[in-house]
Amino acid sequence: MIGSLRAPALLSVGSALAAGVVLAGSGLGRLAYAPPAPAAVDTVRVKGSTHSAEGARTRSTSVVPGYLSSWGLPPVQGRFTISDTALVFESTEGSATPLGARISLAYVDRENGRNHYLFRVDAGVIETDVPDALLELTGDSIWLHGLKPAVKVPAAPMRTAREVVTGLYADTLFLLFGRPRAPVGLIGPQGRAAGRLGEYIAGRDSLAFDPVRMTGETQFRHALAHELAHRWQATARSQLLTLWAGVPAIRDPKRYGYGDQSEHQAEAAAFAISFLQATANRHSRATVSLSLLDHYDLLVPGTRTMVRYFALHPIYRSHPLRSLLTAGPLRHALEK
Ligand SMILES: [Zn+2]
Repeated sequence: MIGSLRAPALLSVGSALAAGVVLAGSGLGRLAYAPPAPAAVDTVRVKGSTHSAEGARTRSTSVVPGYLSSWGLPPVQGRFTISDTALVFESTEGSATPLGARISLAYVDRENGRNHYLFRVDAGVIETDVPDALLELTGDSIWLHGLKPAVKVPAAPMRTAREVVTGLYADTLFLLFGRPRAPVGLIGPQGRAAGRLGEYIAGRDSLAFDPVRMTGETQFRHALAHELAHRWQATARSQLLTLWAGVPAIRDPKRYGYGDQSEHQAEAAAFAISFLQATANRHSRATVSLSLLDHYDLLVPGTRTMVRYFALHPIYRSHPLRSLLTAGPLRHALEK
């Protein structure tokens, strides 16, 4: 873990209610963090994908390498196992996630001479450059039949949230983005009704969250970074204007931040923090870590820019990638 300061910060119900009241007339809903819209079955079909019902029943198991971005979170490397009955993601660290029954091709991104296929599933977005087995599923209604969609399962959300906001991770974020004046609170009834997971209220300099509706610690950490990035936007406008020059828009219309620069920047900042934390382990190979950054940037452009900027901060002075990230032009690992 990276971080040094410790200071009390609590999730208080008192400020929760206050936050709800303030929000009612604040007009700041635009700044709120909300989960991506659930994936929907769309009509994209791949030409030539004419898998028959018989073929579907006799499909042998396929394994596809790629990345999973679940519930809008940064991508995780691993492999997808496709069988007659399930599509399962297994991360390189060994955790397995069933992905439900629905899959569709969202778009193909050509980056550095390679095609990256982005598929939507119930639980998020799959990215791979070896798409054949997944393309077959998108045209296969038999495979889709009878499987249950993936479901979010919150895990001890309030306790997790309290641990995160009082931990070293939050201290790291407070050093980078500044510490809000008000204690971290719970989102009020109106914010909840609007489906928000997190809010930053600039006028009160306060953060509020709805941990009960989150999928777990990873999503809470992401939401905390995202909301604090809104605080940063409010305090470092000219810096962000310079940093953001030339950053292309998010391509996926269903990704949070699409068509909204403020939300896009907050997502890029949260992705950047996730990357720096995920690669702080000295045992990771630098080329593997930099390749991961390409995949972050593919989903949320601007992540690379933010990573390079945050890597200059003293708190990351011992980060194993710091010299690579901060010296000279950073080439895409995919260009190799
Ligand atoms: Zn936001």
